[in-house]
Amino acid sequence: MSDFNFSHLSDTDLVDIIIVEHYRNEEDYQQALLNELKNRNIDINRFNDDNSYIQSFINGFPKGWSIEIKTMFNKLQVSGWNRSMHIEAKEKYGKFHFSGGNLSDKHIKIIETHKEIIDETCSRCGSKEYVSSNNGHWIEILCRKCAQSDLVSKGIYNISEQGFTYPEIDGTNKDLLWENISNLEFHFSEEQQSVTFDTDRVVKRYHGIEESFLSFYLFENLNFIKFLITIPDHLLSSSEIEKRSHITGALKKCHFCDKKAVYSGTCRLCNESLDDLLSNYRNNYMKYYNNIENIMTDARQSVQFYIEHNNELNFFYHNDYFPE
Ligand SMILES: [Zn+2]
Ligand SMILES: [Zn+2]
Repeated sequence: MSDFNFSHLSDTDLVDIIIVEHYRNEEDYQQALLNELKNRNIDINRFNDDNSYIQSFINGFPKGWSIEIKTMFNKLQVSGWNRSMHIEAKEKYGKFHFSGGNLSDKHIKIIETHKEIIDETCSRCGSKEYVSSNNGHWIEILCRKCAQSDLVSKGIYNISEQGFTYPEIDGTNKDLLWENISNLEFHFSEEQQSVTFDTDRVVKRYHGIEESFLSFYLFENLNFIKFLITIPDHLLSSSEIEKRSHITGALKKCHFCDKKAVYSGTCRLCNESLDDLLSNYRNNYMKYYNNIENIMTDARQSVQFYIEHNNELNFFYHNDYFPE
């Protein structure tokens, strides 16, 4: 009579849901989970202790947080917590999201204190070095090493007259020759700076769907500009050749980060715009600053701060190819 299908859940998943998430499960759903466990010959009573609850709770969060969450439970246990006092929490937008439970004020305080520590801990490896949100489509709180290793694998390498290497290509062969690609198009606007092209083999696979085209973006794929200028002329239409020389000719050196990354008035690396700064200066800053020199010095300092602290900006600033 059960309408539920739990075949996609592992035994551990089932146990975790039963003992940690019972507060949000409807009664018949909880019963169906228990029945499924019974059918798998697993006795739920084996998990009827605080340590099992703690382990199941930890399983519901990214691996990098395990030690901090364990520390939190140590503190809770010292102040009288036990598994009958359930905790309502989940990972949300990369953060440890705590929303209540049947807890005393003392326990809530301990959890809230630890929430702050957990949110400053790399969700992948547990490091606390330069931890921040990765700004990705899937938001994660990552340390510098983890954030930058994602960016390394998205880079374009070994760019030569023959072709290039792109680690994200599906399968074992990560190399593409120029003769393997066609239909190159440049898309350069205020919002987007990218190249798209077709390849003569499958390079991506999403849930069984095969794709044979790629897109590269400025300051998403390392060495983008080098890729752009190395594409052999014979692969480009005359209008694309013209577009390319317009793009490379339009790149200007940034007054704030000193890299040649200003396109159409805004630095695509550090995001500063001299035009914006000067118009703000005229409107608002007049009373605080004596001259443009001071404003520039301030803006350069804040860009230096971001280069030091923002993992993405730091990576491209130190590793990307910039034209002379
Ligand atoms: Zn990490
Ligand atoms: Zn800049």
